[in-house]
This record gives sequence, structure tokens and C-alpha cells, in this order.
Amino acid sequence: MQVLKFGGSSVADATRMSQVIDIVLAAAAKDRTIVVSSAISGCTDALIAIGAEQDPASRAQQIEALRRRHHAIARRLFTGDERREMVTELDTLFAELADAEPEACVTFGELFSTRILARKFACEDVATQWLDSRKLVRTLGGVVAEGLTYANILAAVQAAPDVRLFVAPGFIASDGDGKVTTLGRGGSDYSAALFAAGARASALEIWTDVPGMMTANPKVVPAAVSIPDISYNAALTLAENGAKVLYAPTVKPAMEAGIAFSIRNTFDPRHPGTLVSGRPAVKEGEWMGVTSRTLADKGESVVCLVGEAVASRASASARMLAALSEAGIQPLGGVTGEGDAFFIRVRPTVENAAVGAIHREFFEHRAVTVIPVFIAGYGAVGHELVRLIGLSADRIATRRGRTIRIMGLSNSTRFAIDLRGIRPEDAEARLADGENAAGGAFIDAVLAAAPRGAVFVDCTNDHHIHERYAELFRGGLNIVTSNRRSLSLPFVQYAALKAEARQNGAFFRYDTTVGNSLPILESIASDANCSDSIVSIEAVVSCTLNYIITGYDGAKRDSLATLLRRAQDEGLTEADPRTDLGGKDVLRKLLILAREAGVPLEADDVEIVPMLGPEFFDCPLDAFYERLAAYEPQFIAREAELDAVDQRQRFVASLRRDSAAPHGYRAEIKMQRVGPDSPFYWISGTENVTVVTSEYSAPLVIKGAGEGVRLAATGIIKDILM
Ligand code: ASP
Ligand code: MG
Repeated sequence: MQVLKFGGSSVADATRMSQVIDIVLAAAAKDRTIVVSSAISGCTDALIAIGAEQDPASRAQQIEALRRRHHAIARRLFTGDERREMVTELDTLFAELADAEPEACVTFGELFSTRILARKFACEDVATQWLDSRKLVRTLGGVVAEGLTYANILAAVQAAPDVRLFVAPGFIASDGDGKVTTLGRGGSDYSAALFAAGARASALEIWTDVPGMMTANPKVVPAAVSIPDISYNAALTLAENGAKVLYAPTVKPAMEAGIAFSIRNTFDPRHPGTLVSGRPAVKEGEWMGVTSRTLADKGESVVCLVGEAVASRASASARMLAALSEAGIQPLGGVTGEGDAFFIRVRPTVENAAVGAIHREFFEHRAVTVIPVFIAGYGAVGHELVRLIGLSADRIATRRGRTIRIMGLSNSTRFAIDLRGIRPEDAEARLADGENAAGGAFIDAVLAAAPRGAVFVDCTNDHHIHERYAELFRGGLNIVTSNRRSLSLPFVQYAALKAEARQNGAFFRYDTTVGNSLPILESIASDANCSDSIVSIEAVVSCTLNYIITGYDGAKRDSLATLLRRAQDEGLTEADPRTDLGGKDVLRKLLILAREAGVPLEADDVEIVPMLGPEFFDCPLDAFYERLAAYEPQFIAREAELDAVDQRQRFVASLRRDSAAPHGYRAEIKMQRVGPDSPFYWISGTENVTVVTSEYSAPLVIKGAGEGVRLAATGIIKDILM
């Protein structure tokens, strides 16, 4: 005899039930089988809600929804008379549910699912019998009366020697008074173990939606793997301390009856899953898993590490503490527990981080790779980058198996280098105590100290720093930059830099130079890499201009000068905002876009029509603001005129295929009128939009925030990790 148990997600709908049916039929061909099933997924929750519902109309509605789900399954699995009989059988149960006492409602889910399964097996010509768990599984004073239960089960299967396949609802039982009750949420696993022990089964398989017990919850630790073999005790400890895959009370009946049981994946039936037994094939001292649970009432979480035949508790405890401290997590007390279980308490906010850190230490034998990083520039972006590296270190390590270590940092006057790492929270102080950065001393020091493969990050606005990029590449460093200047140099110089990177096997990434962290350049590059199909690139990528111009859309409350001053105050513009107004910054971005698309565009190839005439540019800043005020009525008039025809003006950089133009593409930067059919019409504030049109697909529209230090830092980290 063998027992196969299926969880709610394994029987969630007709497709999944069909997979279950295949698994069961194959198993029943080998041995007599008892199938224990949960209710279809979500059903128990729905039944609890129905039991608690006071409003009769709403109750009826909820019952109807559940009935429809079951009917849908019946319609898919059965035809003809069988379908009619199935539907009638279900409807009889649903009628009982409608009249049921509130606390009895929850017990119906397993009846529905197992009636469907039992009928289906019978249709497949297997000698099948449905067993009423309510009569067999008995509780006394809230606990299962095991002796009585086992005797009932054994008698039931012995009374039906010709039956090949029994189907029994999990979860439900009846108490000393014969009243129907349950074994607690998740209790079907436990039912299955009781059936296995009672029927003296030789095997128990618990089929669920993950490949067995895992070294950690894969939702928390993506690197978690399934545990092939584990002892009853270790499995029990994991289950009791947060491993949801197994309902803890399941272990005892199986263990006492000496039945090895496996936990397997319905969606991957070939996967062996986890075998839980008294004599697991594990080496002494092997680690099994790490789990956690939140004790809401105490405002703390307990992380639990479990091994088999652990040799030294002291050294394991020390490793746990070191792993937490490495991750910057302060435990709430020492390591407790006994034998092969280790517990440590942490604040709930760092619960997942703690599980990740311990999992890394004990289960991810592939050590986390350190990425050494040297950061030039500690302005708004540099500052945020350092902060974000500190915030995300754990997550990056867990998700990517790598960790960014800041080994050098500089602002315009000072720098610090420390190969052991500069902690983000110490950055400010380390710079203050740092060395004099004058005369390119930081880069000299980086070249002298950096390990091969380190990443140099340029988040400065420095006009000359790119002159040293080639040296950095030759020194074995990679470069990530958000500084546009190196990329808008004359094409030959730009090409030489890229060649230098290639020759030294280094990477040179600058995705944040256009559209901040928006994936514009990578999208263009992937198009250009695979074909020459780019027809046009159009971009509204000046945060300053977008800010001013969209400030005029609709409302028109503030003057141009006010908007511009505000943009300047918010740090959107260059020191002299006219650099932006004149289109110079957009020009750099267009050069980068074009070059990424494989077009060797030069600044001179681009026709720029600034938003304002030349008289605004060849004067001091004060005079400029006066002229701007004088120009205002004209601008308003033009806006009104456009508004009347539902158009807006946008400062658009474009590159369009044109065989008559220098490199086969015409490049322009100018004001354009756009209507509601253009994505440019719909931007607000500093949003950026880029539209890439290629031959082979509909235009790709990339729209999103074009500014913000948090996003810039995110984009830089993406470039570092890519
Ligand atoms: N259906 C019950 C629950 O959801 C029992 C089980 O699925 O194991 O808790
Ligand atoms: Mg369940």
C-alpha cells in the first residue's frame, strides 16, 4: 500500500487535476494506493469566509462562485452521463453547504475535490472507493486519537480487498461526539500520514508545488535548492520553524511507523524531491536548511538553522554570528537551541536579510564575488550611489551572488582608498580625512592600487576626467560613467576610447548618460547589434526643457523665467541654464544615441534650432533673464495658438534615415509641434520619452523619469552588475 497526497495547488483546476490523475494512475498500476487530497486552492479560505458571512445574499453569492469553479472542473473532466452525475453530486454537497452551520462550512472543500477525483478514477476503470475521513479519523479533546484512527483505517482498507484505489479527503475528521472537525490549516499532510500509518503503507508521497523541502524559502532566497535527503527530526524542526511546505504534525505518525516519505512537485514529476526518513543518506555535519518565523506578539523573528549530526555547535554558532555581522545585522541575543538546531532572534525588518546571510554562509558554497569599485564624484549622484550600495548590498548578494565593495572614493578636493572597503556610512568621514585630490591624484592612486577587474565609476561633471579613461582601461579597470563628455567627443576619439576598452577586455558602460536609468541605450544597441534596421530615433530627453515647456501645458501659471529659475534651483540645469536651452546637452545625448545605433555622428552634422534666438545667448545672465521676460508674451501667444488646435510644442532630438544626409541619417534638434497622437504630447514634468522605430517591429516607446538621483544611482548599479 502507498499513500499519495496532493495539495490545493496540485488540484487547483482541471488542467492540474489531469496531471494529478496521470501521476495517480501510474502509481496505482504498481501498488494499491490511497489518494489523500486537499481542497482546490483558495477553497478553504473561501469556505471560512462563507462561514463567517452574516449577509445571506452575499453568502449565497460566495457559495455560487465556489460552485462555479467546481462545475468548471467537472465540465472539463467529464462528458455525457458522467458529467451530469458529477454535477448532481456536487450540487447535493453545495446544497448541504448552503444549510450548514457556520463552523462546519470549512469541512466541505475536501469533499468537493475528492468526489471529483474518485469519480474520475472510477471512469478510468480503476476499482476505486471513496473513504469518508470524517468516520475514520477521530479526535478526542482536540488531538487525534491515533489508536482508534489507525484501527478504523486498517479495517476500511481490509474490508475492501478488491479496491485498487482509495480516495480520502484530507484535513477533515470528527470528534468524540461524532461532530465533524478539522486537523488545522494545512492539515491534509497530516491526514495523509495518518492514512499511511493506519494502512501500514510502505510509502508516502506528499505532492505539492515545489520540488520538496528547500534549503530556504525560495521566495526569500532565490539561491535555495531542494534538499534530497533529510531525517525526520531535521524535517520536523524546519517545519516547526517556518518551512511551510510541510505541516509539522505530519512527521510523527510517519516516523513512529517507520515510513519514509517524500515531498514532490506535481509540476515536475520527474524531480525526486525530498526524501524524509530515519536514515537519510547524508554526510555527518551536513547542513539542511534555514527557516524563519515572525513572532508578531513579541515584535521579533526567529531564524532557525538545521543540520544533521552537527560536529561542533560552537563553531557553527560563531559562523552564524559572523554571517550576520558581515551583513550588518545585529542579532537580539545569542545563538540558542540544542543538538542540530540553531536559533537566533532578529528584528522582523531584517528577518529575510538574516535568512539570506545565513543561507549564503552555510549553503552557497560558491563564495560571493566581490566587485571592487572606485567612485569619482561625491556630488548628488555619487552620494546617492554610495548610500544605495550600502542599502542594497544584501539583496544584490542574495540575488546575484556578488557584492559591490567601495575601495576608493573622491570628491573634487579629497580622496580615500581602502582595499578592505569603505563602509557607506563612513564615506563622509573617510573623505574628510582623505588625501589631497589635486592634480589627478585620485586616478594615480587608483591605478596604483586597484585589483584587476575593478570598476571605476565616474559620476563627476568634470570636463577633463575622460582624458584618463584610456589609462584606466590599460590599468585593468572597467569604467561606468554618467558623465556625458567622454561620449560626445569627436567620433575618432570616442571610437578610440571604445577600442581601448575592448583591447583590454574591459567594459565601458554609460547607460545613464541618456534618459537616466531608462533602458534607452541598451534597447538601441540590441537593435543595432542584430541588424541595421533602425529607421529613426526621436527623443525628448532634456529635463530642463521638458520641465519648462510642460510647465506651460494647460495651466500656464508661472512665467518662463520663474520656471527656469526653479529648474535651476532643483539642480536640473547646468550652472548656466542656457547650456540646456541652447540644446548643447541634448546634442550630447543625440550623439550618444546615434553612435549607439552605429551612426558616426559628429556635432557638426546636427542641425540645432534652439528654443530662443541668438540674442539670448550672447549676453550676461541678468540681461538674459530680462530678455526672457520681454519675450514672454510672444511665447504665451504661440502656446495659445497651439492650444487652440490641440497641439503642444516639444524640444525633440531626432535621427532619421535619409540617404542624402552625411551618414545616411539626418539629425536635428528643434521645437516640434505634436498632437495627442504623439507620445511626446503626453509627458509631464521632467519625463523623458524616446521612440525607436525599426524596420522589423512597431515603434518602441521608452518613457519614464529622466531625472532623479535615486534613479541615476540605480542605473549606475545596473551598469556595474550587468
Ligand atoms: N485545505 C486545507 C487548508 O487549506 C488543508 C490543506 O490544504 O492541507 O488548510
Ligand atoms: Mg493546503
